[in-house]
Amino acid sequence: MSRLSRLSSAMARETFVRYRTLCLLGVLAVLSCVCVGLLVAVLSPGGGEESSDSSPSSGGRVGTPGTNTGGDGGSATGEVKGAGEDVEEKMEEKEEEKPLTEPWEKDYRIPASTYALHYDLFLHPNMETGLFTGTVDILIRVSKKRSHLVTHSKFLNITRTSLTGPGGGNVKVKRAFEYEPNEFWVVQTGQPISPGNYTLSLEFSGNLTRSITGLYRSVYTNGDTGKKRFIATSKFQPTFARRAFPCFDEPSFKSTFSTTLVRPSGDGYIALSNMPVEREEADMPSQGLTKVHFKKSVPMVTYLACFIVCDFTYQERVTNHDVVFRVYAAPDRVASTQYSADVGANITDFFEDYFGVKYPLPKQDMIAIPDFVSGAMEHWGLITYRETNLLYSPRSSSSYNQQRIAAVVSHELAHQWFGNLVTLNWWNDLWLNEGFASYIEYKGLAHVHPDWDAEAHLLPDDLQRVMDLDATLSSHPIVQPVDTPDQITSIFDAISYAKGASVLRMLEGFMGDEEFRQGISNFLKRFAYDNAVTLVSDDFSGRDRQRCNDLWNELSKVSSKRLPISKIMDTWTRQMGFPVLELTRGAGGATYTVTQRRFLADKEAEDTTKSPFNIEIPAIPGGWTKVNSEQRGYYRVNYDRDGWAALTFALLTDHEVSLQRGSQ
Ligand SMILES: [Zn+2]
Repeated sequence: MSRLSRLSSAMARETFVRYRTLCLLGVLAVLSCVCVGLLVAVLSPGGGEESSDSSPSSGGRVGTPGTNTGGDGGSATGEVKGAGEDVEEKMEEKEEEKPLTEPWEKDYRIPASTYALHYDLFLHPNMETGLFTGTVDILIRVSKKRSHLVTHSKFLNITRTSLTGPGGGNVKVKRAFEYEPNEFWVVQTGQPISPGNYTLSLEFSGNLTRSITGLYRSVYTNGDTGKKRFIATSKFQPTFARRAFPCFDEPSFKSTFSTTLVRPSGDGYIALSNMPVEREEADMPSQGLTKVHFKKSVPMVTYLACFIVCDFTYQERVTNHDVVFRVYAAPDRVASTQYSADVGANITDFFEDYFGVKYPLPKQDMIAIPDFVSGAMEHWGLITYRETNLLYSPRSSSSYNQQRIAAVVSHELAHQWFGNLVTLNWWNDLWLNEGFASYIEYKGLAHVHPDWDAEAHLLPDDLQRVMDLDATLSSHPIVQPVDTPDQITSIFDAISYAKGASVLRMLEGFMGDEEFRQGISNFLKRFAYDNAVTLVSDDFSGRDRQRCNDLWNELSKVSSKRLPISKIMDTWTRQMGFPVLELTRGAGGATYTVTQRRFLADKEAEDTTKSPFNIEIPAIPGGWTKVNSEQRGYYRVNYDRDGWAALTFALLTDHEVSLQRGSQ
């Protein structure tokens, strides 16, 4: 199939999906009836805060990426386009004529019958020259006879490739080459290889100054000394680990890492990674340099790996549960890490209790990076932040800064369990990671600042903001099929973060707090390091299983009301938009008739589909009724004239009494 025919095939598939979606809409409408019916039944009439108009975005929250680069709250493009890339693009255009026949040409994904078990990785970032060199031994489990292996690689110059077989003998490599369109390094063997464990050894080099994704160089000026200092740091989510070392750069692969970094021996330089330092070798690989070996990691996905060489210092806390918790920053600003260290250690304890799962690593570091493309990134055990999201000075920072720091820290710490310990299998579940962290961050926030009424911030910052977007015909469902790196990067958007958070909050609302928490805890325990466990049985079929279905199953199991969580949540995640409930008072005023239609901001685009249900709820004759208590539900409510008049009258005459009554 040619590149063009692959495109037209993709379009045909999309058309089919749309048609199928249309057919499903009828079914989904019935299901959403069940869902909203449940909500109306579960949420008591008479309620707290609700707004029928949308507040403008407060902007800049953790879940509000601007230009997408993956990671939380991104806003810079992260790309410094090299002159060579234009040439590459032209060459790609010419390739359009060539039919795609080889397996590495036809599939974006790494074959399911190969699995990266372990990386032995050596990286030497040379901050003076702006280049890096490295070697990697990838232990690969092959479960089917095959005659080629692929790993991801982009912008790397791979200078040596060799393969070792299960018995330790050398396996002849017929050809090793880059296949740029799919960002692959392809290794063809002389003879087909049988199932077993193989070690693929590669030597490579790359550039630290190409962009601020992958492994890159950052620079800052130390305010105390006036000197410019280089640091080397990394940012891999979603598909940039392949720019630092050849790897299986997909979230369904969880591998252990034994990492070695090279740092300058002097000038206060240190090296950091996900795990603590195991040992150091002075004057290696040459005089003036030090090799830093890190302890072997737990199984984790490539996008969570992080490598830093810097001259930073830190403040340390030890949590109540004995996790060593450090916050690093440039030496002239490390005094401003006190607040995030206090809040971070406290929230770590809280999440251990909330999830019922111990923090999985021996240490937790957080670090403020002078040039960071996202708001923050949840690298396991070494969370990186933009400086404004970690450094707080009581003298010069605003209270908004303080709230944001606490929220971002809480969000990233939630990922250490939800996202890192249990990871999505493929990026179409990204919303679950981000929606969950965006919701659960409020619980961490409420724990450290009970006086802030944290969850109230979710309404303007997430729910009402994303409803503006979602009320347009150009919105999209939360669950999106994605294949290519560009498609993957594009889903780090408000629908994934803010709508994801809002529908999970609604789910907790109709399940009840404790059952929701119990289901989450069971989910984390059951699927911890899951992908690594799956491979023991050579069963790779689970690699595309949707992680949200696993979560819905665990939540259904603990639901005392036996709620069909999957059916309910599919109506919110697999179709775009949201409903508005219309309430019309019946004769005598003792009931409201409730109907539903899709809410669209543009009146011209009004949805005329008949309401999938028509139910009655009790009303107080002559009094007011309010549906959607605390705006837990992700929908709007429209009352008839008398209904709005009664609410208006109540608020104008005695709003405090009304609100108290509403919250009963
Ligand atoms: Zn996040």
